[in-house]
Amino acid sequence: MLGPAVTTRSNQLVPLDSNFASGGSLRQLFGLDNAALAACMLAAGEPAWRGCQMAEAMYRQRLTSLDEITTLPKALRQRLGAEGWQVGRPRILQVFKSTDGTERYLVQGQPMDPQTVETVWMPEGDGGEAGDSGDADAAEEGKSRTRATICVSSQVGCAVNCQFCLTAKLGLQRNLGAGEIAGQVVAVLDRHGVEVGRERVNLVFMGMGEPFLNYESFMAAVRLLVEEVGLSPQRMTVSTSGIVPGIERFAQEPPEVRPKLAISLNAPNNAIRSEVMPVNRKWPIEAVVDAVRQVRLRSRERITFEYVLLGGVTDRLEHAAEVARLVRRSGLPAKVNLIAWNPGPGIEYTMPSAGAVEAFRVALAAEGVPVYLRKPRGRDIFAACGQLKRTVEG
Ligand code: SAH
Ligand code: SF4
Repeated sequence: MLGPAVTTRSNQLVPLDSNFASGGSLRQLFGLDNAALAACMLAAGEPAWRGCQMAEAMYRQRLTSLDEITTLPKALRQRLGAEGWQVGRPRILQVFKSTDGTERYLVQGQPMDPQTVETVWMPEGDGGEAGDSGDADAAEEGKSRTRATICVSSQVGCAVNCQFCLTAKLGLQRNLGAGEIAGQVVAVLDRHGVEVGRERVNLVFMGMGEPFLNYESFMAAVRLLVEEVGLSPQRMTVSTSGIVPGIERFAQEPPEVRPKLAISLNAPNNAIRSEVMPVNRKWPIEAVVDAVRQVRLRSRERITFEYVLLGGVTDRLEHAAEVARLVRRSGLPAKVNLIAWNPGPGIEYTMPSAGAVEAFRVALAAEGVPVYLRKPRGRDIFAACGQLKRTVEG
């Protein structure tokens, strides 16, 4: 957990970073959980419940400056400000709007940081959530205004090097902190005036990066989003390329804060998977499936296998038969989400034909595998799966 930088010698919050006096770093409150905020307040000689007031203000009311947090006494706000503390919520710097309503955002995680992260808002989802337990709750669906999905990034770039993915071209630039991950969500909820609890929003951790290679910050962000922001983990899905130690850790998370799990399968067998996802050489399909079996699923919960259809490479009918066998043999309650590959500059694959996509879907369905087709969202603004960070050079 992130610890606030305070001394306990005085009732003053003292930033430990000596740079600050010379105009250096500021102290960000956004990203600290209730306990950390309470500790911060106690150290400042304030009652612990002031921490709850701060959490309420930042995560529920979505206030973005200390000045606005009027539940705190003015003198305290001034003192915090003078000592270099600020809310420091990630900011949306730029918005790209698609003709289909999708919006892609460049989000600045930390003040002055030139490396932005990308977040996507899909007002109608992309069909990936179809067939999930709970989503079939028709009564709720009727009531809610929104059924949007927010696609969240966990790293700047990615180290995994999947051959079909544009984000891979960046390499790993850096991990995001918990506040930077949760902040993408809160900033987007704020932009759209979403009333948490009344409106239905799905989160998918499927933006830039591999969440299970930034495990601590990813799960800290999930806990903030569940416990402080009030979102349900049953409406969150984390996707992994199959990082086995991460999946094993994830299996130990309590159900109250554990999102649903999606595995990027993307190939019908180890030979092809190792070609398109070199990470398969380290953790082949069987090892991934074994780790996934350790997750204690909630009632009606299913594992999602994502499957990117690459023209001529993974989209043949015999591949569909292999995928069906693989899913059946896993013994897992599972569904398959098909994604037609989205092109990107400098990537040599081809898109599957519409006929091949449909034939693949029908073949899986005929084998009794629940299968859904994800609609590409925001292709025109490079917001679709695997297209994030178009701004990559070279
Ligand atoms: N790193 C994680 C989550 C982010 S990628 C993972 O790989 O699972 C989210 C999904 O987008 C993955 O299923 C990935 O296989 C898919 N994807 C990547 N590049 C794509 C592309 N160009 N077209 C379609 N889907 C893509
Ligand atoms: Fe990383 Fe996921 Fe892209 Fe693979 S598909 S390079 S794991 S972001």
